[in-house]
Amino acid sequence: MRDGTIAIRSGLPDTTQGSPFMPGPVFAGTYHLKGDPSGSPYTYGRYHNPTWTNYERALGLLEGGDALVFSSGMAAITAVLSAVLLPELGKGKNHPVLVMPSDSYYAARVLSEQHFGHLGVKVLFGPTYNNGQIKLLDDATLLWIETPSNPGLDVCSIRELVEAAHEAGALVAVDNTVATPLGQKPLRLGADFSVSSDTKAMTGHSDLVLGHVAAGDKNLIDKVRAFRTQQGAIPGPMEVWLAHRSLATLEVRLERQCRNALEIAKLLSERDDVLEVRYPGLKSDPSYKIASSQMRYFGPVVSFVLKSKEDADRFLEESNLVESATSFGSVHTTAERRGRWGGDVVPDGFIRLSAGCEDQNDLIEDISHALDCLQKH
Ligand code: PLP
Repeated sequence: MRDGTIAIRSGLPDTTQGSPFMPGPVFAGTYHLKGDPSGSPYTYGRYHNPTWTNYERALGLLEGGDALVFSSGMAAITAVLSAVLLPELGKGKNHPVLVMPSDSYYAARVLSEQHFGHLGVKVLFGPTYNNGQIKLLDDATLLWIETPSNPGLDVCSIRELVEAAHEAGALVAVDNTVATPLGQKPLRLGADFSVSSDTKAMTGHSDLVLGHVAAGDKNLIDKVRAFRTQQGAIPGPMEVWLAHRSLATLEVRLERQCRNALEIAKLLSERDDVLEVRYPGLKSDPSYKIASSQMRYFGPVVSFVLKSKEDADRFLEESNLVESATSFGSVHTTAERRGRWGGDVVPDGFIRLSAGCEDQNDLIEDISHALDCLQKH
């Protein structure tokens, strides 16, 4: 089966006569459990849940491995870092070495430095652009990749980095949030973990916070599962049920978002008042060559730079369809001036825009109108 079919058909129960297509969420903290618990599929609510199982089956098929759902993308990231960065894995120097992208999602960088750094992990940073992390792999325990990177949208070659990391004896995790497993399959490209914030395009309706981890190696996924069970960063069944329901429309949403994103990127790149545009699917983009060799969809996110902070703020005010919000991947088109948070090294006029599923003509007209308004002031 192909991805679009898997996304709609997987993880659902048997098609017995009179049963619903999508049975409701199972709310369970406690399960009936007599005698030896080892034979029971469900024992306690923090350990497992039938609604998680259904969603995880579907995710596993899309990712090409085993998958685990988490209460957020950050919980998923924390679980992989915690499961892998154990002191005994530090080679020769008594401490594990983590190689992070210097341009990845801000909170992942802060977590790695402020939390894992304090626990004795040595954290090194290199740029996504031009496979810049490859130089830092000598003593690495774990290489963390984010491609396309958020918010700069640089792309690295997963295959080349995996090859170099494995040669150096390091494991590799890819934050696949921007692409989703329909856009890019890190495990097939050799990575040990694929990690995602399912808050974004995976669920796509701006109404959930979730994450997941997938791995091809049973040993590795068992370590991550053990961490989830011990630490307890588990999602509620209602959220996971909604995520599974949203998964059915992932390819339909993504196709439309990516088509809209490409047209918006083309429009922006044709305008003199836009200083720079980045979209991995734009043929003129520095990321295009590698992106087109490893991605099937280029994702919903476009970034661009206007002349000043004031222009960027005004663009967001003048637009009627681009909603100001932080996050991306929703059916609603959203954008923000990324510099308002601090933390990312971006120009004052840098905007991260996420194309939604609205009518393309309406979006193009609205964005053109908002840009035209900048000329009048
Ligand atoms: N990874 C990336 C690339 C993200 O953009 C985000 C959130 O913006 C996360 C991870 C964290 O996900 P969550 O907000 O679901 O914890």
